[in-house]
Amino acid sequence: MTPEQRAREFDAADPLSGYRDRFTLPEGIIYLDGNSLGALPKATPAAVARVVEQEWGGGLIRSWNSPDFGGAGWFDAASRIGSKIAPLVGAAPHEVIACDSTSVNLFKLIAAALSMRPGRKVILSEPGNFPTDLYMIEGLERQGLATRRLAEREGLVRALDSDVALLLLTHAHYKTGELHDMVALTRTAHEAGALVLWDLSHSTGAVPVDLNAVGADFAVGCGYKYLCGGPGAPAFAYVAERHHANLAQPLTGWFGHAAPFAFSDDYEGAPGIERLLCGTSPVLGLAALEVGVDLIAEIGVGRLYAKSQALSEFFLECLVALDVHLDLVSPPESGARGSQLSFRHPQAYAICQALIARGVIGDFRDPDVLRLGFAPAYLSFADIAAAARHLAEVLASGEWQRVEFETRAAVT
Ligand SMILES: *Cc1c(COP(=O)(O)O)cnc(C)c1O
Repeated sequence: MTPEQRAREFDAADPLSGYRDRFTLPEGIIYLDGNSLGALPKATPAAVARVVEQEWGGGLIRSWNSPDFGGAGWFDAASRIGSKIAPLVGAAPHEVIACDSTSVNLFKLIAAALSMRPGRKVILSEPGNFPTDLYMIEGLERQGLATRRLAEREGLVRALDSDVALLLLTHAHYKTGELHDMVALTRTAHEAGALVLWDLSHSTGAVPVDLNAVGADFAVGCGYKYLCGGPGAPAFAYVAERHHANLAQPLTGWFGHAAPFAFSDDYEGAPGIERLLCGTSPVLGLAALEVGVDLIAEIGVGRLYAKSQALSEFFLECLVALDVHLDLVSPPESGARGSQLSFRHPQAYAICQALIARGVIGDFRDPDVLRLGFAPAYLSFADIAAAARHLAEVLASGEWQRVEFETRAAVT
């Protein structure tokens, strides 16, 4: 059987095949970059237009209030959407809030962790973690508040000594997709007296995560990747309920106040997860995010994960069938990786550009990684077979050697 014939069988048996129609995808494009910017749900433009035209244009400032008071519920949107993200990451509804960027949420939670571990200053992470995670630690280090320590995966446990306040890791690695063992690492960190902050940017909406079962202290994640919240969508943050009372986050803005509209001179943090808020919530961004979250929650993360594993396994099967030999840098065992496959090639950038010219959008990660994401909500097995065939043709023909594929744009 050819890859295309196999794909037809898989698509016919795919319980999620109908969801593709809930997304806008341009004709002739195979989108293998939903791990970087999720596709547009068809319901999003109308939802955003409604917020702009009716709630802003008509309701004006009244829209901040809840529907009980004739408003549109803007004030509660951050908590409401957080509570919808919560089941996707194994959290209770009141433990998650949608706010700020992932970077800013990292800052707030790293600083909060430091204040909960007086006498300890080390933030432990791994080299090659997503840059913003490492940079945010560095920022606190420059303020004299933290000491950054990086240890390779094999050395993490040994590096967890009594100076470590917080272990900060990304569950699914952005470049390779390799998963950390959240259960074991969280337990070991706690045994060493450290807190744990998981970055779920490449997991949420693709890989099941159970923060409560794992015993995680904190987590952050991204709204514009698998959650399909749109470019620059608000991120989310999780704080285990047991830490709510002692949470000292440093960005003590008025939206995180216990009573913002009391306009008191003195800060008193909200008792719950709302304390993580800083300034006024970005209502338009939240409106788009809510559509994506509702759709991903409707499909369900268990089904999404099963399909994402099947898609990436099938892609590898297609490469074998098409006699393509590439250096896989993702774990070969599907249970050990997130929803992506990454390949190392000295000409990865030009190959990626040649694929894009053929309508297959993946991405390149410096210095030599071709990264293909398999967002399970809207990809078909036929997409996978076609992408594999394009890749085989690009490599066999050497068309990636054309000069126009050499020049790098600012965003890769
Ligand atoms: C995408 C991503 C981010 C994004 O951070 P922003 O502040 O939202 O730009 C952070 N961490 C990881 C691991 C990511 O993959």
